[in-house]
Amino acid sequence: MRKKIVAGNWKMNTSLSEAIGLAREIRDQLNDSENAQLVVCPPFPWIVPVRATLADSGIAIGGQTCSEHVKGAYTGEVAANMLIAAGADYVILGHSERRAYYGETDAIIAAKVRAALEAGLNVLFCCGETLEERNAGNLELVLKTQVAGALEGLTDAQLKQIVVAYEPVWAIGTGVTASPEQAQEVHAFLRKYLTELFSASIAEEMSILYGGSCNAQNAASLFSQADIDGGLIGGASLKAADFLTIARSF
Ligand code: PEP
Repeated sequence: MRKKIVAGNWKMNTSLSEAIGLAREIRDQLNDSENAQLVVCPPFPWIVPVRATLADSGIAIGGQTCSEHVKGAYTGEVAANMLIAAGADYVILGHSERRAYYGETDAIIAAKVRAALEAGLNVLFCCGETLEERNAGNLELVLKTQVAGALEGLTDAQLKQIVVAYEPVWAIGTGVTASPEQAQEVHAFLRKYLTELFSASIAEEMSILYGGSCNAQNAASLFSQADIDGGLIGGASLKAADFLTIARSF
């Protein structure tokens, strides 16, 4: 059975008190009906207080990126082992906003993936096409390039720490969601490609999440698809009730 995961990407949102309040609300509204691993990814400075708020809740914490370097003169950067020390278990890498606004190339993302794995983090690795790329018929080429660019060469043991998130760029923060059928088609393609790149057993075990305007209304139809193992949630993860409804949508 593949792990079901619902991860919230809070992005650069929440004040300190809002972050603690949101974590508290999620913690207090948890019940046994969430059969997914929950992960919340707050802004860096809120990781320690959110971790403390969620202590013993079973909810994991993630960073939203990390450095490809271990330490040194890299002003503004946060190393993977610092995330571990702050209490994180996961890190999001390859997010389209990092690719688009911070010039993260496949090579940089590959280096970050290795740094994160080396430190012991699980990686929520994002890939996805723009609308122009999809309309030009380049969906599969784009995904193959991103996936191979970041993951090729990893060992089976390292691949067990990888979760793939398919996030069509045209669906992120737009309110336009891929239909369950559209998403399933791409997830099945990704799983087939992971089989070619690695092995059938690795591909079968790897969780592939959907991200892009997934919300409390559409999560159940997305998560009912055979190759959709959960979601990476942006906007809807900022409301505890919505986030938990999504987590209960399997
Ligand atoms: C994201 O940025 O990873 C994301 C899925 O955002 P949203 O849910 O807001 O589309």
